[in-house]
Amino acid sequence: MTGTGDCPELGHGLEVVTDLRMMLGEGPFWDEPRARLVFVDSQAGTIFQFDPPTGTLSRVEAGAVIGIAIPRQGGGYAASSVDGLLSVSPEGKVELLAPIEADRPDNRMNDAKCDVRGRMFSGTMSVHIERGAGNLYRIDPDHSVHRLVEGISVSNGLGWSPDNRSFYYIDTSARGVDRFDYDLDSGAIANRTRLVDIPRDAGFPDGMTIDEEGCLWVALYKGGAVRRFSPSGELIGQVSLPVSGVTSCCFGGPDMADLYITTARFGIADDVLSGEPLAGALFRCRTDVRGLPSTPYAG
Ligand code: CA
Repeated sequence: MTGTGDCPELGHGLEVVTDLRMMLGEGPFWDEPRARLVFVDSQAGTIFQFDPPTGTLSRVEAGAVIGIAIPRQGGGYAASSVDGLLSVSPEGKVELLAPIEADRPDNRMNDAKCDVRGRMFSGTMSVHIERGAGNLYRIDPDHSVHRLVEGISVSNGLGWSPDNRSFYYIDTSARGVDRFDYDLDSGAIANRTRLVDIPRDAGFPDGMTIDEEGCLWVALYKGGAVRRFSPSGELIGQVSLPVSGVTSCCFGGPDMADLYITTARFGIADDVLSGEPLAGALFRCRTDVRGLPSTPYAG
């Protein structure tokens, strides 16, 4: 665990919301029409739906390792995988929507997110963490695939500013958050600059989400925290967790002020895990700010 130093604590009432202890919890997505949280255990290939008022948890098996599952506008899920973008029906029927890097069997799609128009952005990574072997793509609602950035190592968190003029992106191996100009009409990104550097002792930047004030909430894998940064990249505060493998986060709940946080056991040393009985749990805390909604895939 990383010391919190004088970094203010931002979460209230941190709690574990299910009995799950996932190998690699990932991809929290607030499904607003159904008022439930969608998330995955990547390694198990399981898509979960959590209903907060009742605590009910249901699941769909994708049958393969997946990076994330995003609800499709017409129902079911679009899941990132080693073959490309999959369609997973609520009954677990799996079809390939868009092959991606089919010529690179060691690469798989990882984290993904949709802009407000429902275009999906997702990048790839080498399962052997081969440097620069991945790429960032945009997948339009017709499932056409457009390569946006090459030479990515571990493609991870994504997000947009509230005015949709900035796109934020994390290549975990580059240990920071980059900002691009975003053109909402075309879906194009340009002018990559470094916004946030994550110091080595704070862990690895993984998933992220954005709040209504345009601040970035970055999950720190092996850092035991989610840190909040201003749109200009200043550290504002953090939510500290009792586990080191913090993978991603998103806002949800009736007022969009609940922060859901996924965690993992995957890749965490046994001697660390033995002191972290909650590793792999889904956490939730209250915050003093509302988050931006999650957008389904329009394809
Ligand atoms: Ca991730």
